[in-house]
Amino acid sequence: MAGASFAEAVLATRNAGKIRELESLLAESLGPVRVLSAADAGLPDVVEDGTTFAENALLKARSAAAHSELPAFADDSGLAVDVMNGAPGIFSARWSGVHGDDAANNALLLAQLADVPDAHRGAAFVCAAAFVAPDGTEVVREGRFTGTLLREPRGEDGFGYDPLFLPDGSSLTAGEMGPARKNAISHRALAFRALLGVIA
Ligand code: IMP
Repeated sequence: MAGASFAEAVLATRNAGKIRELESLLAESLGPVRVLSAADAGLPDVVEDGTTFAENALLKARSAAAHSELPAFADDSGLAVDVMNGAPGIFSARWSGVHGDDAANNALLLAQLADVPDAHRGAAFVCAAAFVAPDGTEVVREGRFTGTLLREPRGEDGFGYDPLFLPDGSSLTAGEMGPARKNAISHRALAFRALLGVIA
């Protein structure tokens, strides 16, 4: 659906950083677009019962489009570890059993990987970005940010698994990079750039 044009859209998130990030990516391809958050648009919570990042991103974007009647974006992301066949995957936020407990999630992952040698500690942050237009058109694209998992956390700047993740070609972990530098190359930026490449 190339050639989309709109002045306002909604992103199904309560995270203000993600709103600013999408506004700046949209400005690169579509010009100025005001992006409303889930709170701005009064969106209801969505049960994320899909089995893939793409399904969960689409569930959120469909619900946002239906409730706001605006062009709607959503994303879903997580960490996929090579030797764990892509786990924690869609369970990344609650890998330790408690949703959003980053310290416990990181500690469990480190324990699980304790005997895995450095050469086999590859992983990727994966993001699916979804767009649903008011006419029902749906587009989803995925971005992968590849790297290696360290043996202890480094850096206070990030969230989630950032302190354990050394991006390929970087001497700083994602937790040491700071948001501006990380957002320029992250799985989320790659997914949204690919998505906007289709719709803009
Ligand atoms: P969400 O899709 O942004 O809610 O992310 C789901 C979970 O995946 C987070 O709670 C983190 O555990 C993990 N995750 C996703 N993206 C990142 C990232 O960029 N850095 C660190 N952890 C991430």
